[in-house]
Amino acid sequence: MVIEGNPKIGVFLCECGREISDVIELSMLEQDVAEMPGVVLSQRQAYCCSKVGLHEIRQAIERHGLDRVVVAGCTPRTHGPLFEKALEEAGLSPSCLEVVNVREQCAWVHADDPEGATEKALDLTRMAVAKAALVGPRPSIQVDVTPAALVIGGGTAGLTAAATVAASGFPVILVEKEPELGGQVARLHTLYPRGESASEFIKKRIRSVEGHEDIQVLTGSTVTDISGPVGDYRVTVTRDGKSLGFHVGTVIVATGAREADPSDEFQQDGVRVVTQSELELALREGGVNAGHVVTMVYEPNPEAYSSVAVATALKNSLLLKRRHPEAAVSLIFNDLSSDLSAAMIEEARALGVRFYSYDGQRPPRLANKAVEVFDRLRGEAATIPAEVLVLAMPLVPHDDAMSISSMLSVPVDKHGFFLEPNVRLRPRSFLPTGIFVCGSAHYPVSANESVFQGYRAAARALRHLSAGTLASQGPRAQVRESLCVGCGSCVESCPFDAISMVPGGGTLSVSSIDASLCKGCGNCTVVCPAKAIVMEKSSDMELIAQIDAALAARSNGQSRVLALLCEWSGCAAADLAGAERRQYPANVRIIRVGCAARFDPYLVLWAFLQGADGVLLGGCDPGMCHYVEGNRWAVERIETLHHMLKGAGFDARRLSLRWLKPDDGAQFVEVLRDFLDEIEYLGPTIPVDTRQSLGASPQGQLLPSGQSV
Ligand code: SF4
Ligand code: SF4
Repeated sequence: MVIEGNPKIGVFLCECGREISDVIELSMLEQDVAEMPGVVLSQRQAYCCSKVGLHEIRQAIERHGLDRVVVAGCTPRTHGPLFEKALEEAGLSPSCLEVVNVREQCAWVHADDPEGATEKALDLTRMAVAKAALVGPRPSIQVDVTPAALVIGGGTAGLTAAATVAASGFPVILVEKEPELGGQVARLHTLYPRGESASEFIKKRIRSVEGHEDIQVLTGSTVTDISGPVGDYRVTVTRDGKSLGFHVGTVIVATGAREADPSDEFQQDGVRVVTQSELELALREGGVNAGHVVTMVYEPNPEAYSSVAVATALKNSLLLKRRHPEAAVSLIFNDLSSDLSAAMIEEARALGVRFYSYDGQRPPRLANKAVEVFDRLRGEAATIPAEVLVLAMPLVPHDDAMSISSMLSVPVDKHGFFLEPNVRLRPRSFLPTGIFVCGSAHYPVSANESVFQGYRAAARALRHLSAGTLASQGPRAQVRESLCVGCGSCVESCPFDAISMVPGGGTLSVSSIDASLCKGCGNCTVVCPAKAIVMEKSSDMELIAQIDAALAARSNGQSRVLALLCEWSGCAAADLAGAERRQYPANVRIIRVGCAARFDPYLVLWAFLQGADGVLLGGCDPGMCHYVEGNRWAVERIETLHHMLKGAGFDARRLSLRWLKPDDGAQFVEVLRDFLDEIEYLGPTIPVDTRQSLGASPQGQLLPSGQSV
């Protein structure tokens, strides 16, 4: 929404003590900013975020009748809320605020280039002013939180979480797909490291949920659908062929993990070649009747989560040796985790357990009733007799993890374990989803760690439930009905089912977006062929205004690169690189977008037409998109654009789509430097005739090129 009339923009330039002013020429900035269209106040402050600074901002809003505020200081990720509050207190909508990060993106990363840092700070402020002129008040979205919780998984973590939430008086639905509660621990004999009885441990926890008046336990049941807005999820559970429906305000994922199946090469027969689970069962029922028992920790790849498997193997080797001192017990491993109990290793050695370490490049081989291994510890080959071979397999996610991941839009890692968005790096505007993951659903953990994680997930869920209402000023997509041609493309594009077609004024149906379901990825905005969907806080007009402003003062001879970065990954990484004072060249201008789904080929093309020498797009790693598949959409679109650019004789190396990690400032700088080197090598200018062949009109307008992107 745009404020009617001429905007009155106030710009506050923060010195941040001397963190910013020692590098950036703020007096010059103050003067130049005062000349920008719409700016009625340009003012330096020692600390914008201090009590005095915030008071000054409030007073200036009233004194000068400001209707937009730009603060050029540090990252909006941490300080945005302070300024938003100041605007609210002065009667302005928080959405009328733009924060420019001239500390992490200029002063701290171009400390050795004050001129470049100042020029960049001026551009970034110009971009924010241009954007601020187009934004306006945005209503806050309020959602009520349904006071009930769903816990998926009845193992240690799920049982702990369910009991803890219910103890605070909130009803809990506990869904377990197996006929019995207990999970992986119910299959164990004893627990690492103290050796307590696994069955007593788990029975105590099962008792705490069974019969609890606030916990509905559904065993032999599967969660088949989760939909609805944050705060009021509609859950469908299938049990005995019947569907049951629930509304909950929070979901705790505690689906656990299972032992990987050994491959055929091991010829597991449950007698001579057994898994650790089968050994646990044998130990529970009496023991193992063999003179030579070899446990082999099998790691199909070095990144497999094997620490729990190693700990269990150590525990069981020790137990065997204690029970059968005469037996030859051996443990073959690749890597002994440093988390293992040193006392247990010492005791095992003292009792005679033989340890062998293999090199991942030379894995052990099964020979006739023996295992052949090159032992790194002794530097020699060994043949170990094995009447019983125990396979200690790594733990892997349960088969239903992927379907739950897609129902909840919670990303998984490359092994299929759930990831939880890094809360510290989460964009402020993102409404807390009330979805929490605990226990081995994250990565394999011990029973005691599962208990801890169950408590922690329950504490977070209780905080969410107790809030009662959630408010968000987060950006949403809006349909301009008058432009909608009723094609329905947007419906399929929404990963959150927020869009439906409704009867329009004429004969056509028109698109309608449910603001409580929209999470603001921007995918529908890019998909819509009629440009009928406006993405708040990153509309086409706002992004074009930023691109134009970024390139307006392009110095002759210096290449200029735009970086459109997803706020979850690229922006977080850029902030971190700043905090770590990693230096890189100053000729890149960063534009923040909500998701890689918002990387619109038209905007990229626009940037090139306006003279950008390179465009870097940075999104989350594949599989880690917080909006399900934003980065997949980005790949498709940008590949198409690459082909189109090549077809127009344009060097497509000037456009690069990269995956960035939010917590890796070094990677961000490396990617950026590589790209800037490439652009430097290609040269700074784009021939005018190439620009025209891409579809620029003499007026600089984008013309239909006849080629679809
Ligand atoms: S912005 Fe994303 S979440 Fe919102 S309606 Fe569009 S596609 Fe759906
Ligand atoms: S994609 Fe655009 S034009 Fe098509 S239905 Fe959706 S809003 Fe309307």
